[in-house]
Amino acid sequence: MKTNYHTHTYRCKHARGEEKDYVLNAIEKNVSILGFSDHSPFENNKYDTSTRMDFSELKDYISIVNNLKETYKDKINIKCGLEIEYNNNDHKYYEKLLNEYKVDYLVLGQHFFTNKNNRLINTYAINDSLHYIEYAKTIVDAIKTGYFKFLAHPDVIFVNDISWDKNCENCCDLIINVAKENDFILEFNANGLRRGKHTFCDGTRYSYPYKKFWDKVAKENIKVIINSDCHTPEQVWDNYMNKAYNLAKSWGLNIINEIF
Ligand SMILES: [Zn+2]
Ligand SMILES: [Zn+2]
Repeated sequence: MKTNYHTHTYRCKHARGEEKDYVLNAIEKNVSILGFSDHSPFENNKYDTSTRMDFSELKDYISIVNNLKETYKDKINIKCGLEIEYNNNDHKYYEKLLNEYKVDYLVLGQHFFTNKNNRLINTYAINDSLHYIEYAKTIVDAIKTGYFKFLAHPDVIFVNDISWDKNCENCCDLIINVAKENDFILEFNANGLRRGKHTFCDGTRYSYPYKKFWDKVAKENIKVIINSDCHTPEQVWDNYMNKAYNLAKSWGLNIINEIF
């Protein structure tokens, strides 16, 4: 069964296509479950909005996805979610999204995080592996809240050109241990494969998926969902999804197809 719970739309300003375009593409590719998870806004647009939808669009996004859910219910199972960063002072907002806006699920995606000195750190621009530990600690806190269904691209930190050290090891262990303790799902992200291989100080490799991380996940038999993280309708199920499945299988991962 083909499923994909990680789908963006034009609303995040770095993807293309309306909600309906993604649904039609998914039906064409025989996808059984399509979960929308566009980059969530925050109230008052309090964090940078250049790569996420504006708060003013949230209601529209949810109602359009819910309408599509109804219109195409005989052809495909559609879920309405959001991909969002965790900060410990935003708990009320996550509850609001789930209980008042009634989204079906929240995806945890730490594109930025607040460290212990209250500094906002961009996950894609880390130059000291000590920040990996801080990244992992925010994930530990987030998973324990119970607000999130799975962790998007847990290994995204490896886009940074830092060679493997004790901090990397500890960071991965923190994430894997909290996932194991909470029976929490980790995402194997096909968009990492789309980004291609690059030369890093530890060799030519994908930024993510990062094998050292996934070897640990395989050892602990943690549940893994493979998602497209599509930013164009054609990517809902493209060759990179097949590639991701093959790679995850060859790395011995415990792949699941459904998150609910
Ligand atoms: Zn994105
Ligand atoms: Zn995403």
